[in-house]
Amino acid sequence: MPTDAVRDLAEQNRSRYGQRMYRMRALGLGLGALCVGAVLYEHAAPPALWALLAAHGFLWPHLAYWRVKRQHDAPLQTELQNLTFDAAMGGFWIAAMQFDALPSVLLAVMLTMDKVIVGGGRFAVRTLAAMALTCLAACAAWGFAFEPFTSYPVVLACLPFLAIYPTAIGIATHSLARRARQQKDLLEKMARFDAATGLMNRQQWLHAATHELKRYQRAGRTAVLVLIDIDRFKDINDGYGHTVGDEVVEEFARLLKACLRDVDTSGRYGGDEFGVVMPDTRWEEAIVAAERLRRQVAACGFSKRALRCTVSIGLAESHAGIASVSDWINSADSALYRAKAQGRDCIVVGC
Ligand code: GH3
Ligand code: MG
Repeated sequence: MPTDAVRDLAEQNRSRYGQRMYRMRALGLGLGALCVGAVLYEHAAPPALWALLAAHGFLWPHLAYWRVKRQHDAPLQTELQNLTFDAAMGGFWIAAMQFDALPSVLLAVMLTMDKVIVGGGRFAVRTLAAMALTCLAACAAWGFAFEPFTSYPVVLACLPFLAIYPTAIGIATHSLARRARQQKDLLEKMARFDAATGLMNRQQWLHAATHELKRYQRAGRTAVLVLIDIDRFKDINDGYGHTVGDEVVEEFARLLKACLRDVDTSGRYGGDEFGVVMPDTRWEEAIVAAERLRRQVAACGFSKRALRCTVSIGLAESHAGIASVSDWINSADSALYRAKAQGRDCIVVGC
């Protein structure tokens, strides 16, 4: 499994997540400040409240982003703290607006909706509690009154928040869902295919081979399993280094794919060993294909150094005596072993 790719993905996700939260918070608090500001204006609020509103609406989003960015170990934890602070401040503003009906409900709903999306229902209940507590504490400390009436100018000031923020949340949620789907596809692909060669990995190939064996046995038809191993591959690694060895493996895989029919199923069985299942094929036909591959490999110059390589090939046709894919592989593997013993660069048919 290419762990670097997974690490990069996680890092990329973290950074995108932080940026997305930053944009949503800046938008939500900016629009929310407009609603709150309209009420504060009507109540001729003191300068201290205006200063607090400006700081919360326009400075806090940057500060919140900075807090998350500098937290490499637990950015999600920090973001949840930021969200709890957002909710608590929402409670304060509801009290400061003296419970003006429309902006208060709007603030409470929007601040709960994004918490549900980010942290789930339980987290939303916790932040709702923080909102209620701050609201009550602010009422007790500053004696805010209860005047749940909304004037027409305040309704107008609430409209942008009402229209824009849910739409933005919808867009962000959609893009998040699409990204999650893409990443799931990528992870599934990484779990099934060998990163270096693009061929099926051992597990997936064995799965495919099992499926093919059952299918052909049921239909009373034959298939051939081929195992191919690069000869003296260790010498390439030892003589030219692992990077050159890797290039040889990749180029060999390309050559293998080019040599096969679309219906053949190839995979990297492990290291320098590859497997192919050839459906609807008899061993006589498989030998022709294997010989073509053997010759092409022998004629090819691998890597920039034009290295010469050969392969040994063992193959086994499916028959009644082969009960499972392990039997089938064992038969091809002992043929491959004999090919190595016979001096390599040759093909042997198993029984
Ligand atoms: P033989 O002809 O008997 O197959 O000899 P060999 O040297 O090829 O020996 P063997 O097949 O047993 O070993 C293959 C070696 O290839 C072992 C491992 O260190 C190396 N190897 C496996 N996978 C890779 C890879 O992806 N890249 C590189 N560079 N080396 C690999
Ligand atoms: Mg080998």
